[in-house]
Amino acid sequence: MTTKCPKCGEVVTGVSVKEVRGCALGGRVWQCVSLNCSRCETSLGVQIDPLAIKAALVDEIRAKI
Ligand SMILES: [Zn+2]
Repeated sequence: MTTKCPKCGEVVTGVSVKEVRGCALGGRVWQCVSLNCSRCETSLGVQIDPLAIKAALVDEIRAKI
């Protein structure tokens, strides 16, 4: 299966990852990443930064030990 960028039409063989802020209801801010077409930088999707979630979880566990 191949995925094509909706803007430039090229087959997506890689993405560039950019940090972005995600704002949720109630004013909470999440560290997120935007997965961009490596050719034209169009955002193909945004998700919560898994490394930020991992670090926050480790900090939370350490605080309770
Ligand atoms: Zn593109």
